[in-house]
Amino acid sequence: MDFEIPSHVREIRYRVQTFIESEIYPIENVLEEAGSESREAMRSLMEKAKEAGLWALGHPQEIGGQGLPFIDYVFVNEVIGRSPAAMVALGTHSLQDSLMLKLHASEPWREKYLIPLVQGEIFPSFAMTEPGVASSDPTQLQTRAVLDGNDWVINGRKWFTTGANRAAYTTVMVRTETEDVPVHDAFSMIVVPTNTPGYEIIRDVKVMGERQGHCEVDYKNVRVPVENLLGPRGGGFKIAQQRLGPGRIFHCMRWLGQAQRAFDLMCERANERVAFGKTLGEHQQIQKFIFDSAAEIQQSRMLTLHAAQKIDQGNEARVEIALIKVAGASMLHNVIDRAIQVHGALGVTEDTPLESMYRQARFARIYDGPDEVHVSSASRRILRSYKAGDGWDFGLH
Ligand SMILES: Cc1cc2nc3c(=O)[nH]c(=O)nc-3n(C[C@H](O)[C@H](O)[C@H](O)COP(=O)(O)OP(=O)(O)OC[C@H]3O[C@@H](n4cnc5c(N)ncnc54)[C@H](O)[C@@H]3O)c2cc1C
Repeated sequence: MDFEIPSHVREIRYRVQTFIESEIYPIENVLEEAGSESREAMRSLMEKAKEAGLWALGHPQEIGGQGLPFIDYVFVNEVIGRSPAAMVALGTHSLQDSLMLKLHASEPWREKYLIPLVQGEIFPSFAMTEPGVASSDPTQLQTRAVLDGNDWVINGRKWFTTGANRAAYTTVMVRTETEDVPVHDAFSMIVVPTNTPGYEIIRDVKVMGERQGHCEVDYKNVRVPVENLLGPRGGGFKIAQQRLGPGRIFHCMRWLGQAQRAFDLMCERANERVAFGKTLGEHQQIQKFIFDSAAEIQQSRMLTLHAAQKIDQGNEARVEIALIKVAGASMLHNVIDRAIQVHGALGVTEDTPLESMYRQARFARIYDGPDEVHVSSASRRILRSYKAGDGWDFGLH
């Protein structure tokens, strides 16, 4: 097992990092604002990334990407994570949705939407979560679709459909089957263009003081053709699982990139700033911040690369994915929190990226399944293995 960045990946990883540092960092404040200036700045970055040969690196070649193999792309995600704007600027934001369309969409949908999606001409969005039910248990989802002739007719309410306000379509998880069908076969995914009558964005929900496109959407008799169904009827949970596994590895690598940036800022500040006759870094309590952060980043990195290797070998790695999601989100939060503390009042201003990173880190413990759900599912798997007499030998997992 080798956790070194493979030599053939170093150059592309370095080029991505340089692009982010030289092109994105200087205009991050502009990109964070809503409005036409920010949209134009992003469009121009996307063009620059294409010209530099850095666009859609992980998408398969047959849909217009550059086909970087999974493990190579894992290491590239680590540097993409340094700036929240980098995913869109480099065209990686659509990876999960385009793979889902490639594998499960009907021919007309693939033809119409797949290439523009990968090219960044249109944006996707994804809707599972509903305001009315605890959506960490998605078997409770209430939005329904019924077949009427050649159309699906959808009714319900979703929220936290991230990016719905700029998306061309939303992939919606809905109940399509009756109560007698086993619940994990009762839900389906249906693609809904956002300009379909009855699809109405109620509000862009403000989160921790900002509007970031986490939309609440009403579906009132939304009618779409049968071919908008992804995969087979009742296949929603299987498709969702397929979407989430590798996606969580990429999330966790990007969190490591964020943590690296916070760690860099913390160490630079600790070496520069003087208080009580010595640099902050010469005070033991600050050294402990640096020590704890280094240990947590390295632990999280090893865990994530180990999980990535298992996924690459065809293993679903359910326990390992749960471990990295929970450990990674906590690491991210802790490292950014310490970096803010070392910056004093400056740390909570918009003069460094830490304030914005801190908000995003808080979300990480909730989206893609709250921590508690991962803790519970991983622990149950381990306990089942003990019950079956197999134990859980870390040397073998
Ligand atoms: C920034 C952000 C972006 C998001 N983007 C999207 C998106 O694009 N599309 C989308 O569909 N959703 C999105 N979500 C929603 C997210 O997936 C849900 O918030 C998440 O699945 C939890 O569902 P819930 O909010 O209904 O919480 P609930 O299910 O109500 O859970 C609330 C709390 O209950 C506790 N809990 C739940 N289950 C257990 C358990 N088994 N054991 C112990 N405690 C438990 C946890 O502490 C949990 O945080 C986003 C969320 C955020 C914050």
